[in-house]
Amino acid sequence: MSAPILPGATIGVLGGGQLGRMFSLAARNLGYHVNVFAPEDDTPAGQIAYREVRAPYGDLDAVQRFAEGVEVVTFEFENVPTETVEVAERFAPVRPAGALLHMTQNRVREKTGLLRHGLPVSPFAVIRSPADLESAAAQIGFPAVLKTAAWGYDGKGQRRVDDAAALRAAYMRLGGARAVLERFVPFVGELSVVGARGLDGAVALYEPVWNEHRDHILDITLCPAPIADAVRSDALELARTVLEAFDVVGVLCVELFLLEDGSLIVNELAPRPHNSGHVTIDAHVCSQFEQQVRAVCGLPLGSTARRVRAAAMANLLGDLWREGDPCFADALKDPGVRLHLYAKSGPRPGRKMGHLTVAGQTIEEARERALAARTSAACRCEEPSWTSS
Ligand code: AMP
Repeated sequence: MSAPILPGATIGVLGGGQLGRMFSLAARNLGYHVNVFAPEDDTPAGQIAYREVRAPYGDLDAVQRFAEGVEVVTFEFENVPTETVEVAERFAPVRPAGALLHMTQNRVREKTGLLRHGLPVSPFAVIRSPADLESAAAQIGFPAVLKTAAWGYDGKGQRRVDDAAALRAAYMRLGGARAVLERFVPFVGELSVVGARGLDGAVALYEPVWNEHRDHILDITLCPAPIADAVRSDALELARTVLEAFDVVGVLCVELFLLEDGSLIVNELAPRPHNSGHVTIDAHVCSQFEQQVRAVCGLPLGSTARRVRAAAMANLLGDLWREGDPCFADALKDPGVRLHLYAKSGPRPGRKMGHLTVAGQTIEEARERALAARTSAACRCEEPSWTSS
């Protein structure tokens, strides 16, 4: 096994968003340097990084120079092109490996991979052209969810369809992209499990959390998830299987649907820290971001034990800026509120601008206080800075 990459070394991150920012904060805390590669400048991650390299992902010479200048490369953005990762892999270890990223970038590859390891997914059919619509509908039935095979996240590129006419119309709107038709899952709740696997194969799992979405975007996460012990252990077992089956070195999140009978279906994998795992920054011994640093550097993994009885995380989307700059001073009147802003310019509806976390005696109390803090922030206390660009 390779020697650990020790503090003082430089870690490269592909992608400049908030996940890279929180990763960089954790890495700097451990004494590492972080170089960020992103197509934009002044990115949320770049602001924290030691060096920010601005270049398109397709500039493979820039990718080579970037990888040559770091000890290990990781990513915070799932849609980094395969050839970019392949070039980086020639000059530095990439963790998790490019092959995992490649699999999770496409729903057909991901679901096929999950099925190969006996993991439960919703029945699906691949649609390559309009000629496949009829057989897909016959195989899957209605209601169903049509999703683009690639480039989908936060509900983008997907639509619920209730009959053949709606399916055809929704498929035509995708403009001929390859798609999957999934059986609609009548879930009673959505859970996720964030886990890490080290270079030595050790696995550390955070307990399952409960996720509430609004307009397909994560809105609230509750920790611990209010579920039966048997569901908890099934969810953990599923996540462990995924981490081991795909030989992950790094952090990965398994998004799950919980059915009424207590069984679980894997919706999606994210081969990186996850929005629902932000709660670990304030509620657990070692955050998902520190865990990513430890895993990709070959250090021992940290404890995933919870430090508080219960916690809630509420996302702060650009919508909160609609009436002007939010009044964060009001949000912080509850001294238990922890505020995390990603320093993004240009709030837009649906854009993830930050989150806040509250610890409480119960998830209900924590949820209520997180919502109250977010509502107080929504009051306008400065001149409007809302942009619609
Ligand atoms: P995704 O982009 O696949 O993560 O989906 C975003 C959200 O859409 C999920 O978190 C669910 O709330 C919903 N969704 C996705 N697929 C299905 C499905 N097959 N059945 C029911 N709801 C779904």
